[in-house]
Amino acid sequence: MAVLPANHEWVQQAKQTQNEQLALLREQVSIQESAAQSSPLAIVRPQLLQGLEQLKEGYIQRYLDFHRSARLNPDQDDRKKRLLNEPRRKQLVALAEVDKLPVAGLTKWEEKLAALQPCYGLGASDLKDRPFCARCGYRPVEEPNAPHPTGVLDEAEARLGELHGNWITALLTTLAQEAPQHTIKLMTSTQQTMINNFLSQRTLPDKIPQDFVEAIREAFRGLVEVRVPPEDILRSITEGGTPCTVQELHNRFRQFIESLTDGHNPNKVRIVIEW
Ligand SMILES: [Zn+2]
Repeated sequence: MAVLPANHEWVQQAKQTQNEQLALLREQVSIQESAAQSSPLAIVRPQLLQGLEQLKEGYIQRYLDFHRSARLNPDQDDRKKRLLNEPRRKQLVALAEVDKLPVAGLTKWEEKLAALQPCYGLGASDLKDRPFCARCGYRPVEEPNAPHPTGVLDEAEARLGELHGNWITALLTTLAQEAPQHTIKLMTSTQQTMINNFLSQRTLPDKIPQDFVEAIREAFRGLVEVRVPPEDILRSITEGGTPCTVQELHNRFRQFIESLTDGHNPNKVRIVIEW
């Protein structure tokens, strides 16, 4: 199975060496036939072996160069790990459940980093009996357009800043719109504080709690406000007359609540008693 690309100069060099050695052998065979020498191979063997050895050394150096430029060295691997552990990346991952955020950008960013494989410590001696790295199985021919890891890491670092900035802007802009603002007013005071802190400080909490994510999701999806005059409550539980049993009162109140949420997902309904 090929390891180097067919058009690589070493492959051309190998073909040339092969042709030269075959020509040399043919020449020796014809000399033998004319001069009756005992063994043509014994004469040219050192020359053939030297040619093959040179070819092998050349291959090893070229393969090592390819491997170095396709796999992460220890420093690059540390840099990749630092990027994956960046607080900004963790904030984006936590927010990825929020609708309306451009999650595809984060997915692409993660895929590019995941494609960078660490493999270091490969030396010439590892390639004496095997034409490719036993640890990662790298074959240059299978990864013809792989970008250099340093370039990918530089780009990922810059892109993380962009993504983070874009997501914060998207959150701030959407939360400031009329519908989410109306929804926020229907939320619990804890949720309102979390969102309003974000809106005033314009920065995300260092470690984003799940409650914060849920509050944002709720603000984006919207809540249904149902306003109830207090007299309606009293009417609903007294309709049918009193005295009544405890069970009857339970039933009347339950039916009243069901009539308020009729047609809506009860989890999205917020009841405001106008008193
Ligand atoms: Zn390797």
